[in-house]
Amino acid sequence: MAFLDIPGRWSASHAAAADPPIGPASLPYAKDALEPYISARTFEFHYGKHYQAYIDNTRKLISGTEYADLPLKEIIQKSGANPNQMAIFNNAAQSFNHEFFWKSMISGGGGAPTGRIGQAIDKSFGSHAQFEKEFTEAALTQFGSGWAWLIHDGAVLKVVKTANADTPMMHGWTPLLTLDVWEHAYYLDYQNRRGDYIRAYLDHLINWRFAESNLAG
Ligand code: MN
Repeated sequence: MAFLDIPGRWSASHAAAADPPIGPASLPYAKDALEPYISARTFEFHYGKHYQAYIDNTRKLISGTEYADLPLKEIIQKSGANPNQMAIFNNAAQSFNHEFFWKSMISGGGGAPTGRIGQAIDKSFGSHAQFEKEFTEAALTQFGSGWAWLIHDGAVLKVVKTANADTPMMHGWTPLLTLDVWEHAYYLDYQNRRGDYIRAYLDHLINWRFAESNLAG
């Protein structure tokens, strides 16, 4: 019970209760942890500016509305079903997609997965090489802004791409991994070379343990 004696504890929890339950997830590694594949400078903008803006916009847009006290996933599903709520959907879904993206990567990741996720990849795609081929194709051919995903559709694992803020839960899919292919995700490090960015993700960044944890859920 020692925590009860910490000054400011109560005022902090009261402040949190008064705010919408939406806030930025902390980056699960240091900003320079994924160098040289994704630079600290990219995270300064991508996490610090782009992601923060999606969070801030979501909070502003839901303030005082029926969405104000809902968890993020419910905000996404409810606003995504209502064509008049596109601004809320876009910002809330981008908040979710980015948090999922940060967790999809880890220093020293990538390569062929082992364990249960490795078996699931082999079973669904035939081989890890075939998964990489399909993932690269999806990420390269997403025209304009969007996302490449490894998902579970209830029966098998599949690679899909979504445009802009679109997100797997709107299609009834469980996301396992994602790669952000908006230009802001890679332009500082790779300029127009989206293919090199995809290759770095596959070879050095994928957090397969995160994918496996999503398979379990
Ligand atoms: Mn992004």
